[in-house]
Amino acid sequence: MRRVKLSCFLLLLVFVFACNLPARTSLPPTVTPSPTVTVSPTITPGPTAYFTVAVIVDTNSEPVSRAQAEILISDASAIFSRLTPFGFQLVDYAEDSTGGSTNSIAKRYVAAHAGALPNGLVILSYGDSGQAKLYGGYSGFVTAPAGFRNTFVSPTVGSSKIYIGVIHYSHKYAACGYNGTDTVQSRVSVDGECRNQPGTACVQHNGYSMCENAVNNLYASTPTYFAATSVIHEFLHSFSDAGNMDHYATPECNSRMGNPAGYFDFEEAERMNGMCPDVYENFVKSYQP
Ligand SMILES: [Zn+2]
Repeated sequence: MRRVKLSCFLLLLVFVFACNLPARTSLPPTVTPSPTVTVSPTITPGPTAYFTVAVIVDTNSEPVSRAQAEILISDASAIFSRLTPFGFQLVDYAEDSTGGSTNSIAKRYVAAHAGALPNGLVILSYGDSGQAKLYGGYSGFVTAPAGFRNTFVSPTVGSSKIYIGVIHYSHKYAACGYNGTDTVQSRVSVDGECRNQPGTACVQHNGYSMCENAVNNLYASTPTYFAATSVIHEFLHSFSDAGNMDHYATPECNSRMGNPAGYFDFEEAERMNGMCPDVYENFVKSYQP
């Protein structure tokens, strides 16, 4: 799989920023690419089309139930449909206990479902070498059987691929006091946590120890918001080829968006799921039913 190494450093950066920046209320610049943005959420139209996904749980990493997967994709769809005319639709749920690389998990699924393939696969897994567990997720694709045509045509890899997001379902956004382990080691942040500021207070939020000044952030708004935003983030990577430079507010992104050097708006970063706004435009233009 491509982009295994293009893990979500900006997302990581955003977590880190999450621990230090005060909440802001200023409106962002008009960078939202969506024609569906409205002044009132009560009149927001629903998606006009769906990017279909199958969720595959790598049971060698952690169990995720069908009901949890349904909520995850529903949440991701709600977030995505506020930014584009599209939503996500769960069309299959599968569990894989064979293991191996996430690419091999994807290939097994594709081989077994050749007649009814979705646009994308969400593989809930710690990832190859634990990369998803470390960063939250990563992206890739698998080549579909001959005759398959993806209705979302990537500007970089065309229409013959099925897009993959490898997602760490229970990822701890703004984790505090864990020091790289699965259990709390400290009541304050240690090592690189909370924007590399040791001593930041930890509080219980969403069922784990979180940097105190991150609890009001969008990504912390529900226990599964971070996994949902990661689904969007990782799929979007397949619709632009600058890798980590397609993240929000990178020098390349700011240049492409006409923003000043160093521009960064924390709330907008999380609302954009950590991706450069122009990648959403690529995605919208990719739809060729
Ligand atoms: Zn990324």
